[in-house]
Amino acid sequence: MSEALQKPVNTKALKELLSLNDSARIKSWLSICSRCGLCAESCFFYLAKNRDPKVSPAYKVKATLLELYKRKGEVDREFLQKCHDIAWGECTTCKRCSLFCPFGIDIATMIATVRAICNSQGVVPEGLVRTSVNYRESGNQMGMSTEDFVETCTWMAEEANDDIRGVEIPVDKAGVRIMYTVNAREPMYYPQDISMMAQIFTVAGESWTLPSTGWDCTNLPMFAGDKALAGQVVKNMYTKAVELGVEAIAITECGHAYRSALFEGPYLAGYRDGKPPLPVIHSVRLFYEYLRDGRIKIDPAKMVEEPLTYQDPCNVSRNGGLWREGREIIKFLAKDFRDMSPNSEYNHCCGGGGGFIPMGPEFKRRRMESGKIKAEQIRATGAKIVIAPCHNCTDQINDLNKEYKLGIKVVSFKELITERMIVPDAFKPVAAQEE
Ligand code: SF4
Ligand code: SF4
Repeated sequence: MSEALQKPVNTKALKELLSLNDSARIKSWLSICSRCGLCAESCFFYLAKNRDPKVSPAYKVKATLLELYKRKGEVDREFLQKCHDIAWGECTTCKRCSLFCPFGIDIATMIATVRAICNSQGVVPEGLVRTSVNYRESGNQMGMSTEDFVETCTWMAEEANDDIRGVEIPVDKAGVRIMYTVNAREPMYYPQDISMMAQIFTVAGESWTLPSTGWDCTNLPMFAGDKALAGQVVKNMYTKAVELGVEAIAITECGHAYRSALFEGPYLAGYRDGKPPLPVIHSVRLFYEYLRDGRIKIDPAKMVEEPLTYQDPCNVSRNGGLWREGREIIKFLAKDFRDMSPNSEYNHCCGGGGGFIPMGPEFKRRRMESGKIKAEQIRATGAKIVIAPCHNCTDQINDLNKEYKLGIKVVSFKELITERMIVPDAFKPVAAQEE
């Protein structure tokens, strides 16, 4: 039995949380659900598990939150463990089911409440606990020091100059238009992502900076059910942006970071009107504007010829409203685009959202099984390339590629754009100009 399972339940704290969340909307959602089952087919966990009724969205809430209220919080550790398995192992809070419920019941928000209740009792996936420690100690999920982050930026600026002359990665530059924030896995594992973005910003003539604090736009505490820490993570970003006097915060190709910064973050950080202190723009929107306005031009001779499809990250497309922009960008980049079915705001979650990827090996089998629906969607398109403007989608689809032998390559927009954009002479490296 795990250590958490041996501790007595802190019933007082649990009851307080239940009372705090006993809002009119949660009460009415719990009471109006007629168990009609119309949401069931919308959930990829349900579909992947041979339509097991116990994995339908409504059942998952009935077995957890409704039961917690019915028992007035008088539950034992085994029950909390069951809530843990459902809230993290059978729902990515993708919000697809809400589109199909005739009452618009928000299952994901209720599952997030279950996560917060489990968190109050220390019943949280180990992988998420580890990242929370890192956020507390360093402000980012990887536990990276400011020194290392700034050093990585300097190194990436040098690398970028091999392809684009004059690339700079300004850190803490006040008064610029955009404060660009990244997923902490970029400086740690994919520093070339920062280099590519710097190249795009340079050619687009953007006025931008990276901040030395608040630079990690991810918010895994939001998925761990730790609202206080999640609020702090967003505050770090907002505070730095206000201090630098920028016009907007830009978010890298990451889905949940956008959801955090623009939609859930303001509430978590205590903004009662639900609005961030300054505009938040996702990379998909930014790239669309650059291409639309001719600030970035694509070489037609370099357009992708192979069949290509697009993974709509739940928090970029359905929950972020940017499904059209994603497809507009593709028109500039590829000749043979094949949409998945269903797609856009109705697209299925890849199975890597809601904190699933950092939850680690303990959850990998479930992640692969539930990802079957996404693997089938991709295979049906016949595509050889999948664009995924989200780090979690990228990792999940790369794993699905191995598991289901899809024979595909997963790429980001910034990768496709940097490889295909027309570099004006002024930015060509000297050696290239002499050729
Ligand atoms: S939010 Fe997504 S994963 Fe969760 S129950 Fe609804 S459809 Fe399924
Ligand atoms: S569709 Fe709505 S009302 Fe019907 S079972 Fe699902 S959550 Fe309940």
